[in-house]
Amino acid sequence: MTTIPDRYREVSVTDVEVPLEQGPLRELLMSRPVYRRTRYMVVRRAGQAALVEVVRADTAELFAAVTQVQLLARPDETTWVVRPELDPGIPSDLARAAADEPAARCVVLEGRYGHISFVLDSTPVRLHVLDVAPPHPAKLLDQVRRVLDTAEDLPGLLPVPHVVELGDLVPPGTTGDVLLPCRGGGMEVPGTTVHYLDEVPPRRDWTLLGCARSQAIHTALYGAPVAQVDTCPRALAADVALGPGEVLLTKCCLLEEHVETDGPVVVVPWGASFGHLREALSCAVAQAHPVATPP
Ligand SMILES: [Zn+2]
Repeated sequence: MTTIPDRYREVSVTDVEVPLEQGPLRELLMSRPVYRRTRYMVVRRAGQAALVEVVRADTAELFAAVTQVQLLARPDETTWVVRPELDPGIPSDLARAAADEPAARCVVLEGRYGHISFVLDSTPVRLHVLDVAPPHPAKLLDQVRRVLDTAEDLPGLLPVPHVVELGDLVPPGTTGDVLLPCRGGGMEVPGTTVHYLDEVPPRRDWTLLGCARSQAIHTALYGAPVAQVDTCPRALAADVALGPGEVLLTKCCLLEEHVETDGPVVVVPWGASFGHLREALSCAVAQAHPVATPP
């Protein structure tokens, strides 16, 4: 079960002269009042750090007596990392910091703005993101990261990227004419002549590299469907194996303005807005059942 502070105002950092053990820390920290919002203390000594939780006496004053001290993470379980690119106020940034320190139960993050927070026993929601490229970077994955950068109200989400190169979907040995939905992304298919559906070129005996919506457009424009390699991320996502409690986010050409949830799979429109993505991430969190890591 993940523990992170509600807000990093709850965290204080203190250098101490006593061993970073329950007994000496309890004695020291109960001997002096703490600021009335302090709940967690990162205590440091000789290049090591540990995490304690304090219980304060009820008071309206600025400082409160400490009535209990609990060592939550010992020095050998705690790692201090300096990552200015991560925001300690964003749960997903704390999840990233923890994911990069798998040996530590407790990761203290000194991050953006010089702020300090921590994550203990990080069990983020693993969010598989299936996207297609080009463009590079894959747009949906990039958008997810940009939304998570400011997602202070969501629990920690850890994106697991699955970027499918569209060119890899072309069956080996394909030659002749290939039809792409549009020119966007600058995709090339070696050994073939590429045409773009949105430019409505003269009909050829081509293979469509696109999704169901492109096939429908082809039928509308040329009067008949055509041989197709389905590139719809939603269809490709069927091949991703999800672990217990994991969720998957992808996009589909057939959705225009709404987000769809199908069990652990959340689908956004092809041209999803940041609003769509915020909605989708909330849906994904609701579908996720974080699995506690064994002790
Ligand atoms: Zn689709």
